[in-house]
Amino acid sequence: MDCIFCKIANGEIPSEKVFEDELCVAFKDLDPQAPSHILVIPKEHIESAACIDSSNSAVIAHIFEVISSIARDNGFDNGFRVVSNCGESAGQSVMHLHFHILSGRDFAWPPG
Ligand code: AMP
Ligand code: ZN
Repeated sequence: MDCIFCKIANGEIPSEKVFEDELCVAFKDLDPQAPSHILVIPKEHIESAACIDSSNSAVIAHIFEVISSIARDNGFDNGFRVVSNCGESAGQSVMHLHFHILSGRDFAWPPG
């Protein structure tokens, strides 16, 4: 399958990894939208948040534990935003589920 994030997960494409375990990888976004911008992906190919079900939701719970720990380790004490764009109108450009962790600036709400 020609999926850029599967290739990052298996090391075929280099990335600046900040965390990795048997279920997920976290790496720096190439085009950061905040002073800190990290992506967390499941190693398993899941297309988007719309494809989460009882067969794969355990990895999502695990990813949120990892997000919490990344936020602690990187001193995101003033706050951070977790975003998962799902589908074309939400701006999803890579069709492998990923969670953006953004920190280091203020964020508008509603997001626009
Ligand atoms: P989205 O638009 O929500 O699908 O997010 C995809 C994100 O992946 C964007 O923020 C891109 O900058 C980022 N991205 C795409 N290719 C790479 C790559 N090879 N390494 C790191 N980040 C990437
Ligand atoms: Zn993939």
